[in-house]
Amino acid sequence: MAEETNKCGHEICVCTVGEGEEYCSESCQANGESDITDIKCDCGHSGCDD
Ligand SMILES: [Zn+2]
Ligand SMILES: [Zn+2]
Repeated sequence: MAEETNKCGHEICVCTVGEGEEYCSESCQANGESDITDIKCDCGHSGCDD
């Protein structure tokens, strides 16, 4: 097992997540579990939509 990074599992998302969390938001979870690769993150957190 790799070390936990506490980074959102969505490839393009720069958010960090809490312990035991894989995605920072439902939006990221939906995108992360699908084959859709959006240009930008849609989680709405500041710093992610720049
Ligand atoms: Zn994000
Ligand atoms: Zn995220």
